[in-house]
This record gives sequence, structure tokens and C-alpha cells, in this order.
Amino acid sequence: MGPFSFRVTHHDQRARRGVMTTAHGDVQTPAFMPVGTQGAVKGVTHRDLEQLGAEILLSNTYHLYLRPGDDLIARRGGLHAFIGWPRPILTDSGGYQVFSLAARRTIDEAGARFRSHLDGSEHLLTPEKAVDIQAQLGSDIAMVFDECLAHPADAGSVRQSMERTLRWARRARDRFQAIYAHGGRSQGVVVTNPGQAQFGIVQGGVSRGLREESAQGTVAVGFEAYAIGGLSVGEPTDVMYDMVAHTMPSLPEDRPRYLMGAGTPQDLVEAVARGVDLFDCVLPTRNARNGQLFTSAGPINIKNARYAEDDRPPDPSCSCYTCRTCSRAYLRHLFQTGEINASTLNTLHNLHFYLDTLSRIRDAIVFGRFESFRLAFHESLSRRLHDS
Ligand SMILES: [Zn+2]
Repeated sequence: MGPFSFRVTHHDQRARRGVMTTAHGDVQTPAFMPVGTQGAVKGVTHRDLEQLGAEILLSNTYHLYLRPGDDLIARRGGLHAFIGWPRPILTDSGGYQVFSLAARRTIDEAGARFRSHLDGSEHLLTPEKAVDIQAQLGSDIAMVFDECLAHPADAGSVRQSMERTLRWARRARDRFQAIYAHGGRSQGVVVTNPGQAQFGIVQGGVSRGLREESAQGTVAVGFEAYAIGGLSVGEPTDVMYDMVAHTMPSLPEDRPRYLMGAGTPQDLVEAVARGVDLFDCVLPTRNARNGQLFTSAGPINIKNARYAEDDRPPDPSCSCYTCRTCSRAYLRHLFQTGEINASTLNTLHNLHFYLDTLSRIRDAIVFGRFESFRLAFHESLSRRLHDS
């Protein structure tokens, strides 16, 4: 159904190089999706993102639903038209944000009842409602509404939650198919992107058995592709890698695999080594605004007094606009004085670092030298020429 497709063009052991086709164009994989929570990536313009080579953005259903509202966005022709980004967009389901509200929400089989963090108004987000909102937003990829447990959780709760997420996946798929079978009209939904695809989400905490059950159950429901959720939430890094490796064999080879919310540059390389194709993470953008820059020799904190008279660029081996034009001394000055450009320049560099890392990963896979890239990458980061 729809224009969504995925083609693996090269394998290098378990790492894959491919092309994901959506209603708004192609995405070269493995790919990193910058996070544009409110329909904008904080600190940079869409023009910057295009120049950085970003091919797909992630936006947040919870935030856009509350403000300005999916009805208002649908009346503007959908999210692409509203924000002026003609390329692919993925929207999350809103689940993660709602579950993060803790004291302000209650969960039952129907869905999640919550109070808005903006005005305290009451809302009910169900698997069906999350489909409807995303259909009106018209993203190219809609995520199912899943239950997100905090880590750690006891085995019984993880099983119950995983099973509920599977039941919700069935309901979300039924709703999705009903909407797109009738162009949305019979369901009272304004479809703004008839080519939307829907991804299922594997849960199961840090249990290999539950991950496997969840993956098999989600694949049995049948989605355009599959994500691994509920990781990168505080569990040890080697446990996350193990869960990813253990889930992969249960996911179809011919569909993209998306590791949600990960991670550090090292996490991305390690997940690609285990067969992951898609990533999103707030680290490069959020940390940029806090003065942390990711570099080929490990992260540096530009606030540090040692950079006050350091005339070198943040990363001498980086070709981004910030590194070509700014010294560490200047960037530290901008940060210390609270200049808005500090956020912009730091974000440009960090996004370049992430997107360029993915680009180099894709090249390495094509030339069959991903393993040597991986070793060199980790060695470079562990040299720690700077500080942390
Ligand atoms: Zn740079």
C-alpha cells in the first residue's frame, strides 16, 4: 500500500546500506533524524538542515496536538505545508511524552488520560486517536501508540505492558487501515498525506524473551516497518546493545529497523553493526544548547575556562560552517554572554557531526570496510584529546 518502500543495496556483515522511499522522497539509510519537536529543530532553520544534508525530520505528535492542534494543521494542508519542509517527516505517537507526565496521567486498556502541561485541560489519547492525529498531520511515517515503562520495572509489569502494547498495535493498525481505505472521510479524519506509512514498536524491557515475543507479535499484526522502543532509558549500554542484537532476527530483513531515542555517536555505530537503519535523538541539539560539542576526539564543553583563548576550531577535522568560521574562544564568549547565536552555531556543528558520521557509515558499508571504520571511530573517540 502507498508509495512507501525500502531497498537494501549493500550488506557488510550485519550492517545494511539502503534507500527508504516515502511519499515525500528518499532517505539514504542508515539515517539520523534531527528532532523538531514543535515543527522546528531548535536553533536552526530548514535551510540549515537542507545544507547539512538532513533528509528526514522527526516531529512530536503530543506537542503539535496540544498546540497549535492537528485540526489547524490539517486546514493548512498538513505538517509539510504548515512548516515549509517538503521532505520526509516521521511523527512519534505521543506515547513517550504522555507517559513522562507521571503524576498527571492514568493508563488503562482504553488509553492514557492526561492533563496538558500547558493549561491543565483533560485529554484521552488512545491508539486510535494517535492514528487520527497523525493522519491529519500527514507525516510520511506514523508511529503506533505504545506503553512506555520506566527503567527499571519488575518482570510482571514489563510483560503486562508488552502485551497491552501488542493489543494497542492491533487497534492502531485496524484504525489506520479503516482511515486509508476510505480516504479518511467516513472516519471524520482529514487525511493530508494519502501515502502515509505506519511503523509498529517492539517493547519488552530488558528481557530477551519478552523482546522476542513482542517482535513476533508486532510483525504478525503487520506494519510497513518496525521500531525498537523502550531502550536508551537508563539501562546499561551493553544491555541495550544486547536487546537490539537479540530483537533483530525476529524483524523482517526487507523492512527498515528504527532504534528509537538513541543515542551517543558510539551507540549509533554499534546499533548499525547490529542491523539498525534509522535513528533519532535529542542529544546533538539539546547538548549543543548546553554548550557540549561532539567531536571526532570525544565531546568538549565549550563553557570550560581552558577555551577562553583557544583559537582552534571546535573540531579541527570537521568541515561544518561553525568549525570553518569560529574559534573555541569565540564560541565560549557567545555562550558566556548568552548570545542566541551560541545555540545556532553549536547546533550546526553537532548536527553536522551526527549526519556526517552516518554518511561515513554508509560509505564504509558500500566499500565493505564498516568493521575497520567502527574500530577507528571508537579509537578516535577514546583518545580524549579534549575534556569530557
Ligand atoms: Zn564542526
